[in-house]
Amino acid sequence: MEIAVIGGGAAGFFAAISGKTHHPDSRVVIYEKSDKLLAKVKVSGGGRCNVTHACFTNSQLVKYYPRGGKELKKAFAYFSTNDTVKWFEGRGVKLKTEEDGRMFPITNDSQTIINCLMSETKKLGISIEKVQPIISIERDTQNFKLTLRDKVIIADKVIIASGGSPKPEGFAWLERLGHSVESPVPSLFTFNMPNEAVKTLMGVSVENASVRISGTKLKTEGPLLITHWGMSGPAILKLSAWGARVLKDLNYKFTIQVNWLGEMNEDEARTIFEEEVRIHPKKKISNSNIFKLPSRLHLFLLSKVGIHPENIMEGMGKKNQNRLLNTLLNDEYKVEGKTTFKEEFVTCGGIKLNEVSMDSMESKKCPGLYFAGEVLDIDGVTGGFNFQSAWTTGFIAGKLSQ
Ligand SMILES: Cc1cc2nc3c(=O)[nH]c(=O)nc-3n(C[C@H](O)[C@H](O)[C@H](O)COP(=O)(O)OP(=O)(O)OC[C@H]3O[C@@H](n4cnc5c(N)ncnc54)[C@H](O)[C@@H]3O)c2cc1C
Repeated sequence: MEIAVIGGGAAGFFAAISGKTHHPDSRVVIYEKSDKLLAKVKVSGGGRCNVTHACFTNSQLVKYYPRGGKELKKAFAYFSTNDTVKWFEGRGVKLKTEEDGRMFPITNDSQTIINCLMSETKKLGISIEKVQPIISIERDTQNFKLTLRDKVIIADKVIIASGGSPKPEGFAWLERLGHSVESPVPSLFTFNMPNEAVKTLMGVSVENASVRISGTKLKTEGPLLITHWGMSGPAILKLSAWGARVLKDLNYKFTIQVNWLGEMNEDEARTIFEEEVRIHPKKKISNSNIFKLPSRLHLFLLSKVGIHPENIMEGMGKKNQNRLLNTLLNDEYKVEGKTTFKEEFVTCGGIKLNEVSMDSMESKKCPGLYFAGEVLDIDGVTGGFNFQSAWTTGFIAGKLSQ
């Protein structure tokens, strides 16, 4: 059996390794259009490769995928985060977990992952052809005819692991096989706020803020970082991922409401605030950082609502107290534009999942054709979830089950 794997990225390598392991008598060839293999693995996670996430319950894991989570539940039953850890550790790559759950090789070097995948393909006798873009695929009755840059090959099974494409035209060759595509839009970006003074606080971060997008149901919580351009950090990145399509429709111009106190509601905040005024009536407002915000942010918010920081707590007055509480819980900022988050950029969109059997990754439109990785309409938030999806779908596709 001749198995052609299209794409030499994380999903392609994992699919090829799984293909050869499950079908040792077959000939497996990876065709890569560029002259580089595993290029994204190399630059991933700031050069450290965030291989997966320490989330070992599948029902929890699927919640990190704005697109494809529901469908991945089936796939994770075959190969999940636990299997990724075992797979790499079984080949001498020890992983470590950071405080936020992200898992990296203990070497802190993505080359470790590349070396492991390269040596595994070599050991199994998988062939790799670089600078061999697949231009078209035709289905014959028995097999597939693949047109490459300078030759035509015949394969019995084809695994497409060609990654995402920022342009719909990038999927045209797959549409010709009868597949439809969810149009690609960027995911995982930070918010630009060219006209907001909050940027002067660049470098300030809040451990747990809650952010919502006005006029939508989109809301996330988590660490928030103020940058040169606007806002970033996990809360913002998650919001960009969950809102990828809506935000594109808004042309990246919208208003966000930040609750600097995370999940705290007005009643709770008011009770704490009034108690503080009662206990320390003569304390200077600037020294009464009741909610333990970074002091630069505390002073910024006071000035935003026009409260003099040198005044004392009991002199604040009900009106100012209400304005401050409202700003702490419901602080509005105008977003105008986005910046790609270079640490972990993914596209939302790709081959529609209802056209793929998620327990085999086989196409429902074209038997013998399989999909793996970001070419599918699956994407996760930051934290190692995108590679996990590549390992899972690659592993399953390589089994070539029907
Ligand atoms: C800078 C950056 C950092 C990231 N960091 C992380 C991280 O730390 N953790 C995480 O989980 N995710 C991370 N991601 C996302 C992750 O890299 C991707 O989700 C993952 O690489 C997808 O793997 P893939 O094999 O599906 O696609 P890709 O890695 O994109 O590989 C697809 C391959 O197919 C080739 N190809 C395309 N078309 C053809 C064709 N017609 N013929 C032949 N070959 C073709 C491409 O050249 C490419 O090599 C990061 C992404 C970026 C850009």
